[in-house]
Amino acid sequence: MSDGRALAREFLEQQKLLGGESVILPDGPAPGLRPGSVTSPSSVVELTPGASPGKPEGLPPVGLSYDPPTSDLFSTDPVPQAPSLAAIAQLVAKCTKCRLCEARRHAVPGEGADDARLVVVGEGPGRVEDETGRPFVGPAGELLTKILAAIELPRERVFICNVVKCRPPENRVPQYDEIAACVPYLFRQIELVKPAVILAMGGTAAQTLLNTKQSLGALRNQVHRLRGIPVIVTYHPAALLRNPNWKKPTWDDVRIARRFID
Ligand code: SF4
Repeated sequence: MSDGRALAREFLEQQKLLGGESVILPDGPAPGLRPGSVTSPSSVVELTPGASPGKPEGLPPVGLSYDPPTSDLFSTDPVPQAPSLAAIAQLVAKCTKCRLCEARRHAVPGEGADDARLVVVGEGPGRVEDETGRPFVGPAGELLTKILAAIELPRERVFICNVVKCRPPENRVPQYDEIAACVPYLFRQIELVKPAVILAMGGTAAQTLLNTKQSLGALRNQVHRLRGIPVIVTYHPAALLRNPNWKKPTWDDVRIARRFID
């Protein structure tokens, strides 16, 4: 974290959204403030007093919070120390840590802006993703692009990835040991991007990011946190293609995520 002050401001802004108490920061510049951060020239961040934390007006209540362990100082594992998203992609491309490497045509590390304000996490690559090496392409990917456009976020301004980086056979759900082998890549990607919010699309993404077995239905409509970053849970676009009735709740979820970006 190169700029603790900017991060503190982002955190306070998010607390404001969640109905936190008033906090005043001392004057002073905030070098490297990221786009969309608090930029008041007075350097005073006024947070809404009186609201009940956990039941903020207009936002769902506070949910789970998960802090996965960070790298051991003396570890020789290159993943937690990878210096960039490109370095992660190189490691993923030659990874053989689980059986999913055996049938893949291309590993799919993820793509998008390395300073994205939103990280979208899905379950794993499907057939078209495996063929192209790109995440969320094909019909579900087109729907995701439309969802992002609806909240005025061009796809290229978002970082999009999956829990597992290689296609499970027949698009089955990734198994526990496969997720355990692959998830350090995801956590390092999130650590490098430092988004303002994470959108977990589908049960596998939500359960992995929050280290829980709760159902997607139980996890929706709450503001969870991964290492302090808000996590909003919603349906996977592929599920929306099967069941259009979930489009409205998905739209509600995505608009909640959008509020953490401005
Ligand atoms: S799914 Fe992840 S852990 Fe398994 S081989 Fe692919 S990159 Fe490696």
